[in-house]
Amino acid sequence: MTKIIEGRKIAKEMSESLKVKVEYFIKKYKLTPKLAVIIVGEDPASLFYVKMIARSCEKTSIDFEKHSLSEKSSEEELLKFIDNLNENKKISGIIVQVPLPKHINQERIQEAVNPSKDVDCFNPVNMGRLALGKPEFLPCTPYAVYELMKRENIVAEGKHTVIVGRSNIVGKPMSLILLQKKQYANATLTVCHSRTNDLAHYTRQADILIAAVGSPEMIKRDMVKEGAVIIDVGTNEIDGKLVGDVAYEEVLNKVSVITPVPGGVGPITNVMLMQNTLKAAGNLVVTIRLA
Ligand code: NAP
Repeated sequence: MTKIIEGRKIAKEMSESLKVKVEYFIKKYKLTPKLAVIIVGEDPASLFYVKMIARSCEKTSIDFEKHSLSEKSSEEELLKFIDNLNENKKISGIIVQVPLPKHINQERIQEAVNPSKDVDCFNPVNMGRLALGKPEFLPCTPYAVYELMKRENIVAEGKHTVIVGRSNIVGKPMSLILLQKKQYANATLTVCHSRTNDLAHYTRQADILIAAVGSPEMIKRDMVKEGAVIIDVGTNEIDGKLVGDVAYEEVLNKVSVITPVPGGVGPITNVMLMQNTLKAAGNLVVTIRLA
């Protein structure tokens, strides 16, 4: 029998317990954590995502502020806007929603967010800290996978973990998180990508397989080991239906644990963003006290 991880249930429990922590923080420091989201233009997927963030903030008693900038805004205008939010003592966390219009340099924008308010963990300073094993924030999606592993007692130590995907927002930070000298990390890792020859050779060796590709059901039954733990980060839309990177129905009853798509990793991701926002509010308290 395969254990199916209920991401929605985990997210609900985590969100409720975070709300208690946020309310305690507000009482203790007389400061409400506040997340500011900047959206440039009107990309429908981004607008939807921002709505979901607002809902997560509401559920955890975190204040939310949306700043909609015109698609024609210049890079300099956006940088100035970020600078104001960096200086604002009421804002704990900042997100600049991507994709940005083509005339704006995304890297330059991400570098402009104050690292202590960078709740998405896109600033190279925060990625560098993570690489050194001294993270300030963890990027929300791999953070969600890590939390899920802790809660489900999925122990990487002593086993072989294979990650498929090496993007800067999922695969690469996932490998860095699992390499930490920490409980539920200490992993022995293989990271695969589009230039890996014979992907199945590696996935078949995985005690824990983390798929973050964006290719619908590309991991087939014969590519997984009997009894493996499968964490499927992929979200792919096929005929209006969401599917993961792993052929879910095919691998059922071969693997020991699996995260479904939808309802696996996805719902936990936004809770981790809220967790980072509370941490950022803690940074703000220190900044205010030192000023
Ligand atoms: P991405 O930036 O497109 O990266 C995809 C990765 O997969 C790349 O490293 C790529 O290799 C690798 N890849 C592509 N084709 C491959 C193949 N045939 N064999 C092996 N590796 C292959 O995507 P991403 O942003 O990391 O997202 C990955 C998936 O996770 C997507 O489905 C996305 O929607 C989903 N996602 C979910 C959440 C969530 O649940 N909250 C959050 C973020 C992303 P190269 O580096 O060589 O190109």
